[in-house]
Amino acid sequence: MEPNRDRDAPPYGTIFFDCDSTLSTIEGIDELTSRLPEAARARVRELTDAAMAGDLPLERVFGERLDATRPSEADLAEIADRYVSTAVPGARETVAALHSLGKEVHIVSGGLRPAILPLAEHLGITAERVHAVGVKLDGEGSYVDFERESPLARSGGKPEVVRAAAPDGRAALVGDGATDLEARSVLARFVCFAGVVERPAVVAAADNVVRELDLTRTLQHLLTADERAELEGGPHAGALAR
Ligand SMILES: [Mg+2]
Repeated sequence: MEPNRDRDAPPYGTIFFDCDSTLSTIEGIDELTSRLPEAARARVRELTDAAMAGDLPLERVFGERLDATRPSEADLAEIADRYVSTAVPGARETVAALHSLGKEVHIVSGGLRPAILPLAEHLGITAERVHAVGVKLDGEGSYVDFERESPLARSGGKPEVVRAAAPDGRAALVGDGATDLEARSVLARFVCFAGVVERPAVVAAADNVVRELDLTRTLQHLLTADERAELEGGPHAGALAR
């Protein structure tokens, strides 16, 4: 479905990407819970799926998941490594192409900030453009609490963060989940990246859907014809040719 409002057509100054199942093929919380007993693991998976499908508000799920897992500094470093090693094909090329056109690229995620920062660095995204939930650790690196005041730990938080980072609304977001879709009203475009997980309710409401496991396929929806032509003539031409 193409957006029918001209004012929503590209160019966009700011592009937001979700992290879990969008920039990376994993869900960070699933990595954390992999060491829990099977029953607890199944419970957390159920809660996460319900939140991502929009059936449960995120804040009902967030604290419960973290109380069950209590990630230490070492756990967070392990997830960070997993995020980088499972970055989706084309992620670096996509970010580099957008940067070459002068776009601001942000990550907006309900995931844990210390685990996401290394992926951001790997993709060439600066830390101040990473919006995620902080974690409080003690001097030994043990879990104390999560950043309870973060808007990203509750439903309705992504629109707030998106609006603050791109107040003119000339922005697009690429994501796979219900919390990504919530930001649609403050964006010019919402691209559903279904290359990792396809969530029917999100697909149905998206302006565009990409089903290939290749993030460069989102560029066709994020750029004007002139911007694509500019890329084609430069060192990032490969990002369009995949
Ligand atoms: Mg996601």
